Amino acid sequence: MYRLPMPPRDDEKTFSEICLSRRNPTRSLLAGVTASIFTQYRQYTLAKGIASLLTAQKYSTEVREALLSNYDQLSSGRSYAILRAELLSLAHAGRCPMCDGAPVATLDHYLPKSVFPEFSVLPKNLVPVCYRCNHLKQDTIDESGRRFLHSYFEDPPSETLLTAEVSVEESVAITFHASYFGHAPSAAANYCFQFERLRLAEYFQLESVAELCDRSLAMSDYYGDERDGNAVREYLEREAGSNRSRHGANHWKAALFLAASRSAAFCNGGFLHLLQE
Ligand SMILES: [Zn+2]
Repeated sequence: MYRLPMPPRDDEKTFSEICLSRRNPTRSLLAGVTASIFTQYRQYTLAKGIASLLTAQKYSTEVREALLSNYDQLSSGRSYAILRAELLSLAHAGRCPMCDGAPVATLDHYLPKSVFPEFSVLPKNLVPVCYRCNHLKQDTIDESGRRFLHSYFEDPPSETLLTAEVSVEESVAITFHASYFGHAPSAAANYCFQFERLRLAEYFQLESVAELCDRSLAMSDYYGDERDGNAVREYLEREAGSNRSRHGANHWKAALFLAASRSAAFCNGGFLHLLQE
């Protein structure tokens, strides 16, 4: 998980432009609620998108439909397809900020438009994510005081919450865990909530097998004819350190390489199982 740069677009201008592109009677309906939508926009920024600090507004069925259908303009209207592309391009190297790996492919409403239709085209509420995260997040807002981290407003926690375990029997087995001390609400509790709801243990495990397979020839070179397990361990420690510096303490690659370096069975030849996969 990582923080995205804030969308550079002006929120109010974006809304006004989309409304002006609509036909009547939709355009008039939207003009009638524009002032209150802008008030909600300012509240959203002050609350950093935290639903419990906002009051969901009640709109007539017609206004609600008009607000919801504004979002369709992002895919069907030509100029607004540009806005969509702009938001998708905020993802670093095209990676999803929620799972740290899969390519971004869609926009997720941080606050679901079914509950907050007024934020259906608010750039700050539209987060570029991968299909998997978008599908698994669904319309969840929060649960028992825990919620998803908002990629535009929050840095992921700096303390290490994600750990992995690498074991070797007949093959290499990798597992991931996320845990925190204390009580929700906290950034650590939210991180663990996201880890559970997006089934990241499953996703990281699959990515890790592929990552270690890619590294198996390098490990084999370090191991050499001398069967030097220490050289493999040191290589994995360096990879853990560089991934931690580049991507943060809770990146799955940092956790993976650290766990692999701490597994004597893996370093002392267990990794050779990967060459057969
Ligand atoms: Zn994702």
